[in-house]
Amino acid sequence: MNEKPPLLISACLLGQPVRYDAASKPLPPERLTRLTRDYRLVPVCPECLGGLPTPRPAAEIAGGDAAAVWQGRAKVATKAGDDVTAAFRRGAREALALARAEGCAQALLKANSPSCGGARVYDGSFSGCLRPGEGVAAHWLRRHGVEVINEDQLP
Ligand code: SF4
Repeated sequence: MNEKPPLLISACLLGQPVRYDAASKPLPPERLTRLTRDYRLVPVCPECLGGLPTPRPAAEIAGGDAAAVWQGRAKVATKAGDDVTAAFRRGAREALALARAEGCAQALLKANSPSCGGARVYDGSFSGCLRPGEGVAAHWLRRHGVEVINEDQLP
């Protein structure tokens, strides 16, 4: 019997209460059943791996896109103005290390997150507005060859 391919997956999509507000965003049960049948799921929460506590203040990318965060030209900050860029970058590196250790060529990550978002992120104004862009970890994984999709792109 063939071994199932590994899939890096946002822990909050599996129901783990790791979001900034200590909630989760579980996928529908039938979706989870199908994923579990087809893949060996490797849970990851980049923000937790970066050392941030749960719960934690919400954070958004400000002053540029994820590439700019890696170039030091933009930052990730909380509404109160605390700079959490280093933790976000650390978590992204750890997520990539986990993907490599587990042999994950693909990742299914949570949409719209400043870490995990693959197509849109909040715009840094804490007003609930989304703009096109990637999260810090999604960008880092893609840049190193991991295919990233969000749950809203599942067929
Ligand atoms: S960093 Fe990613 S896995 Fe962790 S709570 Fe946010 S969206 Fe979910």
